[in-house]
Amino acid sequence: MNVGDILQRPLITIPAGRTLLEAARLMVENNMGLLVISDPKDKTKPAGVISERDIIRAIGSGRKLDVSVDEVSTKQVITVRASSEVAEAAKAMNRHHIRHVVVVDEQGKLAGVVSMRDLVGERATLNAILQSNEKEVFIGGD
Ligand code: AMP
Repeated sequence: MNVGDILQRPLITIPAGRTLLEAARLMVENNMGLLVISDPKDKTKPAGVISERDIIRAIGSGRKLDVSVDEVSTKQVITVRASSEVAEAAKAMNRHHIRHVVVVDEQGKLAGVVSMRDLVGERATLNAILQSNEKEVFIGGD
């Protein structure tokens, strides 16, 4: 089973320069824990990501909700190709201690986001991960 097979939801992006409050609203409206910040020069490319974890961390360290998403986002985006096995997405999450991976097509263009919730949500996906012949153990985050 490929990552592309489990891409269900439309990609939710937020332009650079928007605030944490706007990001939190978008997350709530779309039931998404991670937004992709699109590259202003090429909207098909990710310039960063912001997750609910980043917003909580920002609030916990005293930042206000009108701060720009760029100030708390992660710029080095972890991606997997839509054509990769779902086990690759699980391994990337495990390796980088993240609960989301950004999915790109063969040209590196944005295709969507897969969350840990998506991976564990279907028996077929779990089976595909378990049947992966790699010996690496998948230990998720929280
Ligand atoms: P998460 O556990 O996915 O909510 O995110 C935990 C941390 O990892 C946050 O700082 C996110 O910005 C970052 N993060 C999550 N997913 C990715 C990703 N695909 N690429 C880069 N950083 C990420």
